[in-house]
Amino acid sequence: MTKSFFALLLCIVIGINFFVIFKTLPLKSLMAKCTRACNAMAILGMGVYVVYLLAPNVTVACISYSFFTGLISAMLLTFFSFVYIFTHDRMMPKYISIPIHLFMLLDMTNNFINPIWNHCYEVKKTVINYVDTYSVTNSSFWYVVHFALSYIVVALIMVVLVAKIIKCASVYKRKYVSIATIFMTVILLDAATLAVKLNINISIIFYGILAIAITIYALFIASRDVINDMLGLVVEDLNSGILFFDNNHKCLYSNQRVWDMFCYDKPNFERAEEIYTGTLKKHPFEENRKIVWNDSVEINGEKMYLTVEAQQLFDSKNNYLGCYISIIDETENVKNFEREISMVQESSRNKNNFLSQISHEIRTPLNAIYGMNEMIQKECSDPGILQYSNDIKSSAEMMIDLINDFLDLSKLEAGKMSIKESKYDFKSMLTNIISITYIKSNDKNIDFYIDIDSKIPSVLMGDTLRIQQILINILSNAVKYTEKGSITLSIKCDIIDDIANLHFTITDTGIGIKDEDKAHLFEAYKRFDYEHTGKIQGTGLGLSITIQLLSLMDSALNVESTYGKGSTFSFSILQEIINYAPIGDFTYHKPDAKIFSNINRTMPAGSFYGKKALIVDDTEVNRRVLSSLLKNTGIAVTGVTSGFECLDLITKDHFDIIFLDHHMPGMDGVETLNRINEMDNNESYNAKIVMLTANTGSDAKEYYISLGFDDYLGKPILPDKLKEILNRYLL
Ligand code: ADP
Repeated sequence: MTKSFFALLLCIVIGINFFVIFKTLPLKSLMAKCTRACNAMAILGMGVYVVYLLAPNVTVACISYSFFTGLISAMLLTFFSFVYIFTHDRMMPKYISIPIHLFMLLDMTNNFINPIWNHCYEVKKTVINYVDTYSVTNSSFWYVVHFALSYIVVALIMVVLVAKIIKCASVYKRKYVSIATIFMTVILLDAATLAVKLNINISIIFYGILAIAITIYALFIASRDVINDMLGLVVEDLNSGILFFDNNHKCLYSNQRVWDMFCYDKPNFERAEEIYTGTLKKHPFEENRKIVWNDSVEINGEKMYLTVEAQQLFDSKNNYLGCYISIIDETENVKNFEREISMVQESSRNKNNFLSQISHEIRTPLNAIYGMNEMIQKECSDPGILQYSNDIKSSAEMMIDLINDFLDLSKLEAGKMSIKESKYDFKSMLTNIISITYIKSNDKNIDFYIDIDSKIPSVLMGDTLRIQQILINILSNAVKYTEKGSITLSIKCDIIDDIANLHFTITDTGIGIKDEDKAHLFEAYKRFDYEHTGKIQGTGLGLSITIQLLSLMDSALNVESTYGKGSTFSFSILQEIINYAPIGDFTYHKPDAKIFSNINRTMPAGSFYGKKALIVDDTEVNRRVLSSLLKNTGIAVTGVTSGFECLDLITKDHFDIIFLDHHMPGMDGVETLNRINEMDNNESYNAKIVMLTANTGSDAKEYYISLGFDDYLGKPILPDKLKEILNRYLL
């Protein structure tokens, strides 16, 4: 290779170096600065080598060669810096950089002063093929020093690289191995030049190419660097604390948010590693390599609620890289949530209070409407007026149902409804439900079939009131939404130890439910298929109450329905067995239909002659309604307007039954009862005291009995219920 050809080659490489230097100019990163330094050194080094090759005399050749050898040291230094920045993402620490710079400076000075004393090497001129060529002879002590210093730096780089390759996580190995390979190639070429005693130092061209290569590589990864920087900024800015751990559980990174949360001024990696081992011991990684849990810690006496998420990270070849932990401070959310819950509870309490208040207010006039209408039915024989009166009665009944449903739903929503278990006779509960359903189905000319398992134990433990409420809701719907055909009640029973698992199924051949409506069936106030149900009385509350009651009993309602063909509602409940004796074959004796249709309208005329009743109610219309209902029964009725009058009267007269209103000005019904109970030997001591109130609800009866009343009569007064009470206490 001729020296001019080699000089040309060097000039081309210098040109490319210039080109790539400008390519990297927009980059401000540490890496960009370093690559530019490498390029600049390579350009300088190659430039002075070109001067050496083309030098007009020995002096110029000697000076340029000295500069060239000095610059090789500087080149090595910039490459070493590049390796460090590339692998560590930061400048060399001073304890490394200062000694290296001193070494290099010494070596460079040693080379630069060579032309003065020729103490390292001698540049001579030879003529090869009629062309002046320079050759270097070297054997001096200072040449060895220069040579040793350069290779100490090379050796240092190699040691650092090898140490990194051995120690670092698998994912970074590639980075170090590629650096080491490039380095080794350059060094070997340099050594080869020396070994074959080439007149031309070809390794300089590889320094130049290396500078170009690392610049292109830096350019290639520069965008990744920017992304990394941006990611870092984003992670710093996150609202959650982030911690990264390598595969040896060493904390690699944490954002400041973590330390703000735990009240540390600056990152504390030991604490981070404690967090890692402490939390992951409690919550080990599962199959999906990700875990999320909620925690609470006390920091400076304040409770902090955290959501912690830990995720294991793997590379594309499934090598474990490490994991990250993200910590979100939920304290503010929890506090807001608690505030919202208490606001919802407050508004639900207000709603419940409003509902019970309003229903109480409605009941009083309703009592008058219903009761007076009963009197019309009893005393009037004009068919036209009776028809009007029937319409009033059914509307009033609808309002009573509505108010009862309102009250139940608001109690359920307020969490005030609970399951009260007691022993009950299964057969008598069943008879109750069946007779109510039978009356309704009979009125509509629908067949009512029953299929009751004979194995059902006769006495069970459970909340019979609620079970009846559920069954009546579903059976009433079955009757309401069936125009022709039948409804069937089937009850099956499995016995496991001392528990009876009762399966209830109610099937009808009615209008059925459209598929799109099924999802909303249990929502309150929702009614469907208006075309067919519009004329049927309903509130849309029954099923909502039913599912909530079932859920209180750890059960759920299943619905199968084909639109136009009919529906099947089913549920199962577990009941403790009290008496194992089976109920046997259950048959229901259908009463005469005529008796059914009249039963509600008649009061037993004159059956209670000689009995005395006292009505205590501050509302006159209420007293009048009850007095009218008791008309013709033979009972002597007295009415008073307050608890005080009642207490006064019972010391003077004897009464068999006292109907006490709850809410009265001055002294309410409960206080009046307590005062009566405190009185010694009063005339009415043995009187039956019945609470007469508009405070209804499905558990009102139990409530008033628990307060000491003998019985309970809700307003509006249903003649049937009144008759039941009179029969029970006065016959
Ligand atoms: P209500 O019967 O008072 O309207 P429910 O909550 O009991 O309220 O029922 C909600 C709606 O579900 C009813 O309005 C009706 O459209 C539908 N539904 C309930 N039971 C049946 C049934 N057995 N057959 C057809 N539709 C029914």
